[in-house]
Amino acid sequence: MEKREYTRCLIVGSGPAGYTAAIYAGRANLSPVQYCGMQTGGQLTQTTEIENFPGYPKGVDGNQMMLELREQAARFGADIRDGEIVKVDFSRKPYVLTTDRGVEIEAETVIIATGASAKYLGLPDEEKYSGQGVSACATCDGFFYRNKTVAVVGGGDTACEEASYLAGLCSKVYMIVRKPFLRASDVMQKRVESNPKIEILYEHNTLGLYGEDGLQGAHLVKRKGEADEQRYDLPIDGFFLAIGHKPNTDVFKEWLDLDEIGYIKTVAGTPKTNVAGVFAAGDCADPVYRQAVVAAGSGCKAALEAERYLGELKA
Ligand code: NDP
Repeated sequence: MEKREYTRCLIVGSGPAGYTAAIYAGRANLSPVQYCGMQTGGQLTQTTEIENFPGYPKGVDGNQMMLELREQAARFGADIRDGEIVKVDFSRKPYVLTTDRGVEIEAETVIIATGASAKYLGLPDEEKYSGQGVSACATCDGFFYRNKTVAVVGGGDTACEEASYLAGLCSKVYMIVRKPFLRASDVMQKRVESNPKIEILYEHNTLGLYGEDGLQGAHLVKRKGEADEQRYDLPIDGFFLAIGHKPNTDVFKEWLDLDEIGYIKTVAGTPKTNVAGVFAAGDCADPVYRQAVVAAGSGCKAALEAERYLGELKA
């Protein structure tokens, strides 16, 4: 028989948004239950050092920071569990969410903090050089490439933003763009085109990466499959993916309003979704900023709103 449990506050996800929500909900005596999801600790466990989170003047290892956030949430009574939510029923109250182990949780409020995953090209070399030259976050890792040569893959707004950011730090930035044009907005296109440090390699694809003891370059192909196809090696120190993110919201799409990419839509300036008592925090609802400190702030807001909602239920 399936097990059924009850909580006043269920938190789904364990990045900075989820743990911050757990700290606030725990301190508010909501006895939150938190499911960590596929990747406990979220995206930050994939970066090396975090230098832009306030309060760590010497920087902090991503895994270490997430372990400390977890410890802090546990200290205030959060019941933190491994496992994923695989089924959702928001049609009745309390809401019912089912875990991958078949546990059904009845929840008065739900805080969704499932994050987003950066898309990769799918090359085996991306994994090989992960943390050793390959990154999907220029703001997180760009600093390690000061005065070096890097490449950014993608031709959208994110790629242009990342290339502009990196151009402020690096000696040279290549953009590897598969089409003969950029997809980004006009203003972003002009910004990269006019930056003397940025060189756009149109109609280019990446075949692989190479290097001993870290990344040394990329194997590129220009005009793949055409009569004038050209293959060559580009020496680079860093390879940044900026080909889009996928918010981890599939399991909620039947119930929540999502934008065309899959980000959860919230009432402006709040974590409220279209379902009362269901809140969204962090990258799963943030296509623009995608920063740990912003996610943490939104996790706080979601817990405060959950507390307020529960107070109104009682009244
Ligand atoms: P986009 O989907 O807009 O762009 C993705 C880019 O990556 C495209 O150039 C695409 O190429 C390329 N790409 C995708 N897959 C591959 C692949 N397998 N190999 C090579 N290249 C690939 O994603 P963004 O993250 O840039 O933007 C997402 C949304 O967020 C957009 O609506 C954007 O406008 C918005 N945004 C807004 C910002 C702002 O206003 N400041 C900042 C950042 C994002 P192709 O064009 O050929 O498909």
